[in-house]
Amino acid sequence: MADSPLTERLYCAPGNAGIAQQAECVPLDLADHAAIVSFCRNRRIDMVVVGPEAPLCAGVVDDLESAGVKAFGPSRTAAQLEGSKGFTKDLCRANGIPTAAYERFKDAPAAKTYIRSRGAPIVVKADGLAAGKGVIVAQSEAEAEAAVEMMFGGGLGEAGAEVVIEEFLDGEEASFFALCDGETAIALATAQDHKRAFDGDKGPNTGGMGAYSPAPNIDAAMSGRIMNDIIGPTMRAMKAMGTPYKGVLYAGLMITRQGPKLIEYNARFGDPETQVLMPRLMSDLVPALLASRDGMLKSFDLRWYEMPALTVVMAADGYPGHYVRGTVIEGLDEAAAVEGVQIFHAGTKAEGGRILANGGRVLNISATGKTVREAQARAYAAIARIRWPEGFYRRDIGWRAVERESRV
Ligand code: AMP
Repeated sequence: MADSPLTERLYCAPGNAGIAQQAECVPLDLADHAAIVSFCRNRRIDMVVVGPEAPLCAGVVDDLESAGVKAFGPSRTAAQLEGSKGFTKDLCRANGIPTAAYERFKDAPAAKTYIRSRGAPIVVKADGLAAGKGVIVAQSEAEAEAAVEMMFGGGLGEAGAEVVIEEFLDGEEASFFALCDGETAIALATAQDHKRAFDGDKGPNTGGMGAYSPAPNIDAAMSGRIMNDIIGPTMRAMKAMGTPYKGVLYAGLMITRQGPKLIEYNARFGDPETQVLMPRLMSDLVPALLASRDGMLKSFDLRWYEMPALTVVMAADGYPGHYVRGTVIEGLDEAAAVEGVQIFHAGTKAEGGRILANGGRVLNISATGKTVREAQARAYAAIARIRWPEGFYRRDIGWRAVERESRV
């Protein structure tokens, strides 16, 4: 957005040390919609782009729009596509959208009976937002039943008051992004990510330790099928229900032998997927976001660079468990000087001229290249210049895509 000639001035709430180089960071409380609205009115903000799911599901777009401030992203009701797994599953069932077979439950005994009737492997999901902790892919009935106990026992708070239990899908995952204006959806790009903390896709699940774009398992034909069978029917169904979907629709997919199936929707750009999508976008992003908000995507076209992009997340030691903040990071300028490399900050802050770690996932080292292998080599060459003893990162981001490249 900072690169766009349409952008006069950019603010970010709350922001970090990286965004502070492009935007003025303001310490607004994202849960305080009245404060956000009054800030926008005072500064005469032309458009607000909402990043994360919590304010979307809490209706910040509705509150901004009713105060006369243009906002990019779905309304509270449309954001249910991310905010309630049960809502999305019912929408799929009612509209013939391919997804795992499922049932919804409000109590443990019925859920357990279903688990026993279906057998393992089976997947147990909290209905509501659970910051990536709400899905348990159970390898045994006992593990599934324990997940049900945990959720109905309040282990995930309100998010687990209702549970979806679904069929285990076998295949290779991919993320598919579309930009929507309530009526029209245009395909953006695709990505694959690495959710596990450690090399070899081992260790605990995280918010994402790396990603690359495009997803090698989605060609033009598959992309057409996803638009036709999944995104298109979702858009029509949302409109028919009186809750048209605007914003980024991010489909987490399993590409199975029967074709693409929807695992879940996110109502926003993803992290770290955005860090590999944006370096590939040739067109100006800002008019696209405006067109989504204004319902003008029908005659819109976005151009992309063919070259792949890859990002490696650097996290604080201990993440996703306990970690410390405040450790010093050096060498970022030298790292950013590697050809094709761009560094995006996550949990950082600037203090006394130094950059300090201020979160679990701290930096994204993104690179483009002629191949995934080249992008990967550039990202790791940049990381080699970063001095942060208290951080760690995976050394194998993109392994599957690189292996595929070496086969052709
Ligand atoms: P979600 O938070 O819904 O993206 O789920 C997290 C992860 O759980 C997904 O990225 C998949 O790896 C896995 N998962 C979710 N649902 C299923 C399913 N029905 N079959 C197999 N794996 C699943």
